[in-house]
Amino acid sequence: MRFIDEYRDAAAAERYARAIRRITTRSWTLMEVCGGQTHAIVKFGVDALLPPEVTLVHGPGCPVCVTPLELIEKAIEIASTPGVIFCSFGDMLRVPGRTKDLLTIKSEGGDVRIVYSPLDAVAIARDNPSRQVVFFAVGFETTAPANAMAVFQAARTGVTNFSMLVSHVLVPPALEAILSSPSSRVQGFLAAGHVCTIMGYTEYEPIAAKYHVSIVVTGFEPLDILQGVYMCVKQLEDGRAEVENQYARAVRRDGNVPAQQLVREVFRIVPRKWRGVGEIPQSGFALAAPYEQFDAEIRFGIAALGVDEPTECCSGQIMQGLMKPHECPAFGTRCTPDHPLGATMVSSEGACAAYFRYRRLELAPQNGVTSRAH
Ligand code: SF4
Repeated sequence: MRFIDEYRDAAAAERYARAIRRITTRSWTLMEVCGGQTHAIVKFGVDALLPPEVTLVHGPGCPVCVTPLELIEKAIEIASTPGVIFCSFGDMLRVPGRTKDLLTIKSEGGDVRIVYSPLDAVAIARDNPSRQVVFFAVGFETTAPANAMAVFQAARTGVTNFSMLVSHVLVPPALEAILSSPSSRVQGFLAAGHVCTIMGYTEYEPIAAKYHVSIVVTGFEPLDILQGVYMCVKQLEDGRAEVENQYARAVRRDGNVPAQQLVREVFRIVPRKWRGVGEIPQSGFALAAPYEQFDAEIRFGIAALGVDEPTECCSGQIMQGLMKPHECPAFGTRCTPDHPLGATMVSSEGACAAYFRYRRLELAPQNGVTSRAH
């Protein structure tokens, strides 16, 4: 398949792996930011091709995984309200709240619907004028333009029974939070290509300079990742701390400017809680003042609902590169895709889900991981 097969060529992958081995003279720890990259690395065994000096750790770039328990509880509260149609992407339905998830609400008779676009939720609202329709807007900068467009369209066409539960987070403040931690061991980042497709990569340049860290905007196929690793290791070996673009077939330095303008029109930047990490200043979006009437937290009076994060799930450590999924004591035993303790085990971009799906058989003899199918 064009644009896929040529990025999964085994001989080319081995050539990149040899090139990385040739230039590596010391230990380096790199973090792939995006959960989609994590899944590609684990699925295709990209990390197994690297020299032992190069360690890949998994970053916070799974939007479902970083959504705090508080937002899940707010979603459950709204979805349980009689008469509400609650719309979400499918990934969110199995994320555990304190005692139940959205799928349970649906099984109990709640009108919880999976949609494939936020504009679908606006259409549902238009078709059901006597009902409140809420869209659960979870994501990074990548999905912000589509969500902004949904609110913009609802405002423009007078769809007043539509609202949005916003849980949008931003990558650059998360990278700064990771780098500011005294326990951080990250020396280079493979930045998420799709985020940069929207935002460009100028925001990363001051981070590279301030923390003397190498950043390579990287795609999602095995050869993309290997080339990204090569470029990152080369920078580190040369003593450079720059932003480079491996994913040039999709990313421009300034990104998608009209999409950015729409996002700035509809959203404002606010502090956000990240699951397992805590609050990071200026790290997310909320609806801007002219669009606050579409804010589901205000409409349903739940803005003040606060919930403590569970202590059993250590996904925060995993998403800061401080441990790997199989090092969690609950991995594959008390926590499986059928009985998840954290979002990282059920999200299609979650690191724990990737390890369970692709590595549980090789991990099973070491720590008693169950081999039950996904
Ligand atoms: S294995 Fe389960 S409990 Fe452990 S970090 Fe992953 S999601 Fe959380």
